[in-house]
Amino acid sequence: MIPGRYDYHRPASVAEAVALLASLGEEARPLAGGHSLIPMMKLRLAQPAHLVDIGRLEELKGIREEAGAVVIGAGVRQHELIASELLAARLPILRETALLIADPQVRYCGTLGGNVANGDPGNDLPAVMQGLDATYLLAGPDGGSREVPARTFYEAAYVTALRPAELLTAIRIPIPPAAHGWAYEKLKRKVGDYATAAAAVLLTLEDGKVASASVALTNLADTPLWVEAAGQVLVGTAADEAAATRAAEIARGRVSPGSDTRGPAEYRTAVAGVMVARAITRARSRAA
Ligand SMILES: Cc1cc2nc3c(=O)[nH]c(=O)nc-3n(C[C@H](O)[C@H](O)[C@H](O)COP(=O)(O)OP(=O)(O)OC[C@H]3O[C@@H](n4cnc5c(N)ncnc54)[C@H](O)[C@@H]3O)c2cc1C
Repeated sequence: MIPGRYDYHRPASVAEAVALLASLGEEARPLAGGHSLIPMMKLRLAQPAHLVDIGRLEELKGIREEAGAVVIGAGVRQHELIASELLAARLPILRETALLIADPQVRYCGTLGGNVANGDPGNDLPAVMQGLDATYLLAGPDGGSREVPARTFYEAAYVTALRPAELLTAIRIPIPPAAHGWAYEKLKRKVGDYATAAAAVLLTLEDGKVASASVALTNLADTPLWVEAAGQVLVGTAADEAAATRAAEIARGRVSPGSDTRGPAEYRTAVAGVMVARAITRARSRAA
């Protein structure tokens, strides 16, 4: 339960943090809220020789609206996602999801950036980012920057598109139409638990029929899963029970959960479908 030895660095800017990560090499890790990294260090599942603390960098803070999108700094804490009036108005699914992450203590420390950059398939926000078609803004050494869609960022459990010495600086999320429907359904064993299965659904209606829909899943494979076909099958329907059942069947066909303390793979596959169907029904009821 005691981490190994490490050196602690506190850079004053993103540029300094990236330069430090580049010069210290593979033995260095960014430290944000510490609520995934420190437990892993205590279990000796991670043993970085250097921690580069980015948790207080002002450049990584802030939630703002910009050209039809909301841009959220990687250093924004999860409790801020719940408190933000801008997010409540524009992207209410983020508030609903953040309220289901762990407990207030974790949410006061854990950051949005740490949650999505870690590559933990159990984390809730990556699937929601995929559902929303978010883009991750990355900063690299020598002033370099690039953008990676959330839908292509995750490669395997704890393996992402992040290159050595790169930092996630912010996430840009296109604002859905005001009348969109949304829901994040999460089955968990108790308050504070990771998902046994969870589903994010976003949809829009036109004349009572689904005009667009997006379905994404948490903790049902090595990576979060955006299931394009499950969204497509809803288009043109009233998102009624029959349509939700078809979408759930498609989603179930895409998952590959392991058997673990949350249940055998067959059970987790079955409840994945239940989460998708429930999320569709709730999103439909919220769409104007
Ligand atoms: C008891 C407990 C229960 C939890 N339950 C849930 C849950 O139900 N759902 C859920 O989603 N999460 C859960 N979490 C995880 C929690 O949300 C973490 O805070 C979060 O996943 C990581 O954010 P952090 O800021 O603490 O990151 P850290 O722990 O500081 O970092 C995590 C990883 O991301 C890297 N990293 C951090 N920021 C950046 C960045 N900007 N750019 C590049 N790499 C970066 C770090 O190097 C590290 O590898 C739980 C945690 C605990 C302790």
